[in-house]
Amino acid sequence: MKIICIGRNYADHIAELHNETPAAPVIFLKPDTALLQRGQPFFYPAFSQDIHHELELVLRISKNGRHIEEEFAHTYFDEIGLGIDFTARDVQSQLKAKGLPWELAKGFDGAAPISATFKPVSDFADLANLSFHLEVNGQTRQQGNSGLMLHPFAKILAFVSQYITLKQGDLIFTGTPAGVGPVQIGDQLTGYLEGEKLLEVAVK
Ligand code: MG
Repeated sequence: MKIICIGRNYADHIAELHNETPAAPVIFLKPDTALLQRGQPFFYPAFSQDIHHELELVLRISKNGRHIEEEFAHTYFDEIGLGIDFTARDVQSQLKAKGLPWELAKGFDGAAPISATFKPVSDFADLANLSFHLEVNGQTRQQGNSGLMLHPFAKILAFVSQYITLKQGDLIFTGTPAGVGPVQIGDQLTGYLEGEKLLEVAVK
């Protein structure tokens, strides 16, 4: 399986990092070795002093597809969960300054914790109105809603599948809202989708 991530998909997050608003979705990948599942802890890597949390809605692809049309995109994913797109912001800043790819800042081991539970899409009345938030040590740090995405789920799947075949079991990280910030060893990260706690990650 592969992990496809969307960058710069919320206007408030683009503003906080002083990035340009992209006309097309910004895409990058994480390897499967970045996954943390079932509440495994995140071990702070030695190569960074500025690991940031980015809480994101995550889609699980339910069937293979390429050149997916937007109107049928909803038939290609059946579950939604939460994930954290851990980012070594110091490493990323160095790479961005040189115009280089982001893999070392985004694809390292443990950089993709996902919720133990994914919810069936059928549980939700409106996929364009999903609220989610991240608490760090019980304090709310990030709040988002799928209705605020610049590129909604259907557009993401249609765009990505023009270039990359989606396969059953692939995960799509759909971008983070504002409020990203550093984590510290000892932090407890908790992610909620529509008020339900789905994700827990301890930073060690
Ligand atoms: Mg992200």
